[in-house]
Amino acid sequence: MNNKTLVDSLITILGKDRVLTQNADLDRYSTDALTPFRSFGITHLFDQLADVVVIPQTVDHILEIVKIANESHTPIIPYGSGTGVMGAVMPLKSGIILDTRNLNSIININTQDRTATVESGLIIESLDIELEKYSFSAGHDPYSHPIATIGGAISTNGVGYKAGSYGSMGEQVVSIEAVLPSGKLITTKSVPKYSSGPNFNHLFIGTEGVFGIITKATIKIFPIPESRIFSTWAFNSFEDGFMACSKLHALGIRPTLMDLTQENDTTLLYLLHEGYVEGVYAQKTRTDSILPDFGGRNIGTTKTEEYWNKRHDSALNYKKQALAQTRTVKWNRSSNRLFDYLHICLPISKVLEYKQECETILASSNFKVVEYAIWSRPEMFSLMIEPKQSQSSASKEELSVIVEKILRLAQNFGGIMEYCHGPGTKLNHLVQEDMGSAHDTLKILKSSIDPNNIMNPSKLGL
Ligand SMILES: Cc1cc2nc3c(=O)[nH]c(=O)nc-3n(C[C@H](O)[C@H](O)[C@H](O)COP(=O)(O)OP(=O)(O)OC[C@H]3O[C@@H](n4cnc5c(N)ncnc54)[C@H](O)[C@@H]3O)c2cc1C
Repeated sequence: MNNKTLVDSLITILGKDRVLTQNADLDRYSTDALTPFRSFGITHLFDQLADVVVIPQTVDHILEIVKIANESHTPIIPYGSGTGVMGAVMPLKSGIILDTRNLNSIININTQDRTATVESGLIIESLDIELEKYSFSAGHDPYSHPIATIGGAISTNGVGYKAGSYGSMGEQVVSIEAVLPSGKLITTKSVPKYSSGPNFNHLFIGTEGVFGIITKATIKIFPIPESRIFSTWAFNSFEDGFMACSKLHALGIRPTLMDLTQENDTTLLYLLHEGYVEGVYAQKTRTDSILPDFGGRNIGTTKTEEYWNKRHDSALNYKKQALAQTRTVKWNRSSNRLFDYLHICLPISKVLEYKQECETILASSNFKVVEYAIWSRPEMFSLMIEPKQSQSSASKEELSVIVEKILRLAQNFGGIMEYCHGPGTKLNHLVQEDMGSAHDTLKILKSSIDPNNIMNPSKLGL
């Protein structure tokens, strides 16, 4: 099907206003928050634009669009808010970008089942605003809470500030409705446990839209806790703080927020315990007795409260300066800043040895780690890398080599290269190694569910 015929048939389904073909529109939809400054060997892929953007209003629209895409073998890329930081929405083979923003209804809030059923284009913050009326909240609370959609968060299996007790976005999914590439609608049951066959929710959790378009999801919701206690602890080293966090976890203590951060020589642990009164009291009392054994000093509540209150600021700035803007606007915002942040998941027993090896890799380079962190659980380890001196002495090529070494090191340590944002386009070339032999099975699944390879082709190393 040529482009004109494709566009004409999409207009027949959606009307003219919901089919965008202007260059400026194709430009702003063909990237997310990944910039060329953090993208290393894939800069040329930013040249690829979608052929057309569609903004369906209903699931029936999506069924019809997918049917056309499948018959004409046209790639189709689901698009939430485009806030992903790895280039997962980049149309590597052109095609149709499908903006889900108008599928944004809250279909049902069930406080007895403790679930909300929503359309996939709903912004997470909008759900929370509604849930507040019922004294409930969503468990997923990323920095990007005011701008990211439920469908995008499920497809990247994102992690947020409350993941310590509520888990990642994927862990909160109860059921999913999705349009498969064949044009069939699949719906899973809203129950928390399966033993008669696999749980098909996982076909869509953390899979970047390669198996279909999520149209609805039922996700867990949580009563506003009776009690909340913030605290901040200072440690003599990241290593001491890490051992303290591991001890809390081993005992079964799950602070809602557990963020251990080392910046320069300062290591702080930000904690939030919440839940029913007696439970919070018990967890907090035991925490207070454990942390000093590792040199922890309680320095009050203020720093964690401030940190908590500012947690969505970066997304609010992003909304103001870059969301839905052209690439030039998005890219100027990062003003050539040379840096990268990595989110690695490792067995607990490997984290400190891994950190040491990262130091060794960086020692002879022009780069240093400016922040190490543990987020939510001891296995989830992050680092932010910047030039040691002035930016001019360090190059993007060198940073690229270092990042790749650090990610491959995680794989060699039995870990994975990214626990939070998905591989997207940026880390696509490393997915096969990350998944090991399971990647062959993923390929078989992909070719049987999507024989014409229309759903977000070339992502997840497929
Ligand atoms: C300032 C800022 C802060 C951030 N903070 C965090 C954070 O704390 N934690 C975190 O995890 N991430 C964070 N992110 C990254 C980003 O917000 C998340 O990855 C988010 O989940 C993406 O949501 P989105 O709606 O923008 O999805 P998009 O970027 O539009 O899409 C992401 C992926 O999901 C697929 N997709 C989208 N909708 C659907 C659907 N309905 N069906 C199937 N596939 C779909 C897309 O094809 C793509 O592969 C941050 C980003 C920014 C800019």
